[in-house]
Amino acid sequence: MPEKNIRMLDNALIQLQNVAEVLELDQWIHEMLKKPERVLIVSIPTHMDNGTTKVFTGYRCQYSTARGPAKGGIRYHPDVTLDEVIALSMLMTWKCALVGLPFGGGKGGVACNPKEMSENELRRMTRRFTAMILPLIGPDKDIPAPDVYTGPREMAWIMDTYSMLKGYSVPGVVTGKPLNIGGSLGRNIATGRGAAFVLFESLKHFGMSPSNVTCAIQGFGNAGSVAAKFLYKVGTKIIAVSDSKGAVYNKEGLNPKKLLEYKEKTGTVVGCEGCETISNAELLELECDVLIPAALENVITEENAANINAKIVLEVANGPTTVEADKIIYERGIFLVPDILANAGGVTVSYFEWVQSLTTWLWTKDEIITRLEKIMQRGFRDALTVAKEKELDMRTATQVLAVERVSDAIKTRGLFP
Ligand code: GLU
Repeated sequence: MPEKNIRMLDNALIQLQNVAEVLELDQWIHEMLKKPERVLIVSIPTHMDNGTTKVFTGYRCQYSTARGPAKGGIRYHPDVTLDEVIALSMLMTWKCALVGLPFGGGKGGVACNPKEMSENELRRMTRRFTAMILPLIGPDKDIPAPDVYTGPREMAWIMDTYSMLKGYSVPGVVTGKPLNIGGSLGRNIATGRGAAFVLFESLKHFGMSPSNVTCAIQGFGNAGSVAAKFLYKVGTKIIAVSDSKGAVYNKEGLNPKKLLEYKEKTGTVVGCEGCETISNAELLELECDVLIPAALENVITEENAANINAKIVLEVANGPTTVEADKIIYERGIFLVPDILANAGGVTVSYFEWVQSLTTWLWTKDEIITRLEKIMQRGFRDALTVAKEKELDMRTATQVLAVERVSDAIKTRGLFP
């Protein structure tokens, strides 16, 4: 099992322990919240194009349904493990509670390398995976969505498989669907856009203006590139971006639109004209106002936290900072906006999509962006208030707020039987 995944679950449990102490959480609620409600491990035999049959392993975890149906993405990545899925589903529980969505938290994943699979192989694997997790998912039970290396295409396959097996169309079973089968306007840009809204609030808090700051972004996928485009539009100087192949840097600023065009042609941002090539590790240590880790987890660690040279760290990826690094960052006076707040825009517009699917009533893009902005601003304000009142770092403050809401829901419902 990749070491980082064990660490991720450990990190999440240590954070929960801290929060339990701050909240003086009842012992039995703490015990409950240390474990997921339910997990399913499935085997996914899939016919490959070369005539062989490969058996993949998949997971779906419902961490908590205290506040509503489980909600969270499905990830395709070679490093996916049960521990990682559990840790990510715990984060989803806090994330939904923090921004006040009527959802619990869930997550799923398949250990596979989508970069080495054809579209047909991915389709067959996704359909079989859906059939295997069918007992868990459903619009009132558990609603999957995109995550790392999954998107609207995979959501369409899941929606269709589920619908075929039920015998009628069930668009509310997933979010992040393509627009023509009940997807929502603005869902594809929601994570990046939401992150930008939270960044604006953070900058306002420090009396800084988005048009007067520099920013480095690790990860140029859906979230990172949308945030980059949006920030560029308001005058932020994007000095570096990266993908899995490496990073590009120009202290005078980069144009995300050009980088995207280049990446579309070549598969990477590395080599784009007018930029210096640096490594992903070097990007994290660049001098800038805002550092945005928007790739994978555990990239800011004990080893490099002392060298982070930014005023604000905006965690667009899930779990990019280890517990040890968190402490160093806080002690150094760097303002860290944690993942469950910074990237909550995705699941927020997923909520809007789910509501639209259930009510068969479509919202305009303006309605969606305006509501998203309000929810992100409120999330930031609520967290900052707790941070100030209780003298906590933003990570602990957001989790204190979220865990308290989940704990209250458990108490309000009472225990069955
Ligand atoms: N995978 C995204 C996240 O980690 C979105 C989840 C969703 O929309 O349900 O927040």
